[in-house]
Amino acid sequence: MSRVYNFSAGPAVLPEEVLKEAAEEMMDYRGSGQSVMEMSHRSKVYDNIIKEAEQDLRDLMNIPDNYKVLFLQGGASQFFAEVPMNMMKNKKAGYIITGQWAKKAFAEAKIYGEAVKLASSEDETFSYIPDCADLPITDDMDYVYICENNTIYGTKFKTLPNTKGKDLVADVSSCFLSEPVDVSKYAVIYGGVQKNVGPAGCVIAIIREDLITDDVLPGTPTMLKWKTQADNDSLYNTPPCYTIYICGKVFKWLKKMGGLEKMKEINEKKAKILYDYLDSSKLFKGTVRKEDRSLMNVPFVTGSDELNDKFIKEATERGFVNLKGHRSVGGMRASIYNAMPVEGVQKLVEFMKEFEEKNNV
Ligand SMILES: *Cc1c(COP(=O)(O)O)cnc(C)c1O
Repeated sequence: MSRVYNFSAGPAVLPEEVLKEAAEEMMDYRGSGQSVMEMSHRSKVYDNIIKEAEQDLRDLMNIPDNYKVLFLQGGASQFFAEVPMNMMKNKKAGYIITGQWAKKAFAEAKIYGEAVKLASSEDETFSYIPDCADLPITDDMDYVYICENNTIYGTKFKTLPNTKGKDLVADVSSCFLSEPVDVSKYAVIYGGVQKNVGPAGCVIAIIREDLITDDVLPGTPTMLKWKTQADNDSLYNTPPCYTIYICGKVFKWLKKMGGLEKMKEINEKKAKILYDYLDSSKLFKGTVRKEDRSLMNVPFVTGSDELNDKFIKEATERGFVNLKGHRSVGGMRASIYNAMPVEGVQKLVEFMKEFEEKNNV
């Protein structure tokens, strides 16, 4: 067996320990005589799995009691609609546009009400986070929306926007569990798990309880009403059972690693290895304003499409895979999520140095 270093933005690398454990439990989950894929989501065995996953997540993120944790389907993309459906009482909300995902959420919100662009960094291809200290937020806005870590462009909010007392909704798909967060500063935190948490198929949403009501927009499907999901502890219908099981294992792995403070330390160390090299390289350069750099997604370019392609090809041959940048940006992107070992980044940088020497410009 030989494993590659996988720099995919998502679905992405998972901890080897978790994969091994899942493999061991594949045929017979802890004496149940079945795989978790095969068992009823209403069984006692599965109930333990989902309850333990929730508790471990609560411990890791220090989630206050007045927040519900929901395991949902439909991806982050469906949640773009769930936010206005469940939160637009005044049919008005503010959006900060820092990339494609925020833009898509903004477009989706416009279907349901008045979505106002509060700030944007589109003028410089989303290479920075706009100043959010004094945004044109009005009293009638139901919430302020951000995409906290911009997976495609590699920027991250280092300080949360001043929402002037309005509820903050954050898509944290690509920075979920990468560092500690103060949940109480948000009304809703959500993310697709396939970036930094688990396999595709599940969105985890952490929602302040007072926002979970029957007062939703007319026409909201039963399944997309948060109250339906909350009243049924995410078991209104069949949940993505296996994905939740793997997420639960990742939570245990994170606890064992030392929790989110420790993950932050490791993630900062990993990102520094790559950014320091990019800052010193004559061939490669990062594309993002330094103070807004993401710890998770690192886009970079050489300045020549030909060299970019050559680099990606040779890197792949050496076992560094999925380094091609998003189709809307070009160049390269290394996603260095929790499960990417420090060694993976060190080896990538060694390879980049070697490539730079050979392709001296
Ligand atoms: C990947 C991604 C999405 C889309 O996720 P899906 O689960 O594929 O719908 C949304 N937001 C961010 C920040 C992402 O990285």
